[in-house]
Amino acid sequence: MELTAAPPLEEGCDVPHLGRLAHARRAAAQAEFALWAAMLDHRDEARAALQATEPSRHRAATGLGSTVLDIAQTLAVSELSVEVILSTADTVRRSLPALWRAFSLGAVDAHRVRTIHSVLTTAHTDTLIGLLDTRAVDYAATHTPAELRAWLKRLRARIEPDQSTAEAETARDRRRVEIVHVDHAMSWINAYVPTTIAVAIEKRLATAARALPEIDPDTGELDQRTQDQKRADLICHWLTSCEGTQTTVRAEVAISIDARDLIGLTDGPGAVRGHGIPVPAAWVRELATQETTLFRRLVLDASGQVLDTTSLGYQPPGALRQALQWRDGRCRVAGCQVPADRTDLDHHHPWERGGPTNAGNLRSLCRRHHRMKSHGHLTAHHYRPPDTYRERVLDQTSVEIDLVHLQAA
Ligand SMILES: [Zn+2]
Repeated sequence: MELTAAPPLEEGCDVPHLGRLAHARRAAAQAEFALWAAMLDHRDEARAALQATEPSRHRAATGLGSTVLDIAQTLAVSELSVEVILSTADTVRRSLPALWRAFSLGAVDAHRVRTIHSVLTTAHTDTLIGLLDTRAVDYAATHTPAELRAWLKRLRARIEPDQSTAEAETARDRRRVEIVHVDHAMSWINAYVPTTIAVAIEKRLATAARALPEIDPDTGELDQRTQDQKRADLICHWLTSCEGTQTTVRAEVAISIDARDLIGLTDGPGAVRGHGIPVPAAWVRELATQETTLFRRLVLDASGQVLDTTSLGYQPPGALRQALQWRDGRCRVAGCQVPADRTDLDHHHPWERGGPTNAGNLRSLCRRHHRMKSHGHLTAHHYRPPDTYRERVLDQTSVEIDLVHLQAA
């Protein structure tokens, strides 16, 4: 994709209203750029004038303060917001010229520019800064803000593994539980814990809540609690009771990591599947050596293909289902964040018309998008390829390994 020319937003839009939407999106981003650029121009001119007339630095800075105040009052925002925008715009214009140009063309908006800028402020290497001005710009133009944030985290973890690991370890030292009592005789229980644990807890709670019987065995009545209520009741029960806290649901988290990173040839991060959150390679290696945990290994080829198992029935067997969930990570509709373990497996070519039940013909779709597909409302351009969580910035071609960390039930 050539961003430095014209943003290709309208290309392929043969639906007039979608073409208008794409135009409007670009125009909105260009309007944001115009605002930033006008602020910079006004500030630059004022600064040049002050430098020529004010004898002392201190007085020039005070004069510049009144320029910021003028901008703030014109826009009806605080002086602090003006200073933040000016500082961000200065840095992006100077250090990320391609991003600045893409912003001027409306290919990326101010929100995405700020997101990329926030990574620039923590960057230690020219390699990362260079990638922020090339790959990140391309990625930002075609992905949701949430996808961009996760992608940038993985990029930084791969390019600057030592920094990222050190920060993760400092953060892990601050793990704690906070209980906050609020109104209506209710309280929040917040636990700050490693993501690998939190994802396992999240999944175990959801699975255990869904497994509760619809009819209460004690009363014989229909259980009318919502899934939210069931999860809250379960966690309270598990934390307060010495008895009856056993569950057959295992806590598990799937982490994918490149084989080279796992064995320590390189130090790129693992990624929690379904979330894409990077985990330091050292942490994944630590998990891999624990005797009390069970690992399943899955080797993907360079194109992300998993299993070639073909089954005869409509329902794919458990191993294939799980492998495909790991492969896809999330619902396969572009921009959808529903984790794959909460999706249905959809036959791309319908089973009734001879479509095989194998990895190549199956993909994860959330209930909502599965319904759209079944009614013929989804076409090829709505889908995205499976998550690989491997930013191919280092031209690696090695296999990726998926590990599932299972804690004994
Ligand atoms: Zn979906």
